[in-house]
Amino acid sequence: MSTKDYRSKRNFDKTGEPRGSSGRSSSKKPQFVIQKHDSSTLHYDFRIEADGVLKSWAVPKGPSTDPGEKRLAVPTEDHPLEYANFEGVIPEDEYGGGTVLVWDRGSYENVTEKDGEIQPIGKAIEAGHVLIDLRGEKIRGGYALHRTGSGDNARWLLIKIDDEHADARRNPVSTEQKSVKSDRTMKQVANDEGGNDE
Ligand code: MN
Repeated sequence: MSTKDYRSKRNFDKTGEPRGSSGRSSSKKPQFVIQKHDSSTLHYDFRIEADGVLKSWAVPKGPSTDPGEKRLAVPTEDHPLEYANFEGVIPEDEYGGGTVLVWDRGSYENVTEKDGEIQPIGKAIEAGHVLIDLRGEKIRGGYALHRTGSGDNARWLLIKIDDEHADARRNPVSTEQKSVKSDRTMKQVANDEGGNDE
């Protein structure tokens, strides 16, 4: 997999986002990140390391901890692994312009099974059925990513698995808004790095 689409959409002389050099997968545990992104519409970018890139989905409402809540997840272009550390302001006239905050991150374990064995994560994504165990600071436990329909009608859903981390009363998207990287709010990131005084 490559991040060609990612690079072609961006002018790296203008945006502070990483160019993405390596593409190497590390020997460490695979990582995930959820970036809150206040672009033309507010959304949460859910990214998981797979085959040397961050496979990405935009989740308009963010992840839920309630197994009864299905959250729409719209696939977006692969991002370089370094992107998991990106927090800052993308210039308004650039692709995805707006403030980005590292809302949650951590390692994950692929627990997708096929025929009684763990299916490699890249294959699971291709097949449209992914089961992962997340070890973030806010988001923990099992999550399923499922593709339903096909062609233009295909849609992905992000769903909490009913395990010991499931909690229908928690709503971390609204109650835990700060960055796990810098402990800042969206407004603080925008003010610190956007050069505007909102
Ligand atoms: Mn985004």
